[in-house]
Amino acid sequence: MHCDNVQQQLNRFAVGDLPVADRHAVQAHLAECAACRAKLAELDAVAGVVASTPTPSIPSGFASRVMAAARKRQEAQPVAVWNLLRWWRLASAPMHAAAAAVLIVGLSVGVVLGWTSAPSAARAETVAEVDPVDVYQIDYLGEAPSGSLADSYLTLVSATNEGGR
Ligand SMILES: [Zn+2]
Repeated sequence: MHCDNVQQQLNRFAVGDLPVADRHAVQAHLAECAACRAKLAELDAVAGVVASTPTPSIPSGFASRVMAAARKRQEAQPVAVWNLLRWWRLASAPMHAAAAAVLIVGLSVGVVLGWTSAPSAARAETVAEVDPVDVYQIDYLGEAPSGSLADSYLTLVSATNEGGR
């Protein structure tokens, strides 16, 4: 086994965390290599210092004070508008152009959809004034005998037009 390989495993060897086969290989190497024995001695010395150092005690109420400070900081954060402004400040010129394009397209689509879907007074008036015979080009049905299928259709279309007002 090479010294580099052994020294990579020395930490785990020192704490007894190596699989048996690896531990035996490291032990065999340590028996013949003074340099790796010295490394292991250093690790043991550091481990001894760490083990003998007392864990600092945490003042009482420390966790609740940290959580309260974190909550206060979170509440102080301005909402989305500020984040949007910060994004705008940090964004590059192409990002500004892309955002502006998205905004313009969105507004345009909204305007077009609102214009085409909102029933304006003028359009409602137009619909009311038109004759379904002219609109649907069914003037040839006007001569249909009363009670016929064509007459019924004409009646239905007229009723639909008046009801849709
Ligand atoms: Zn070695």
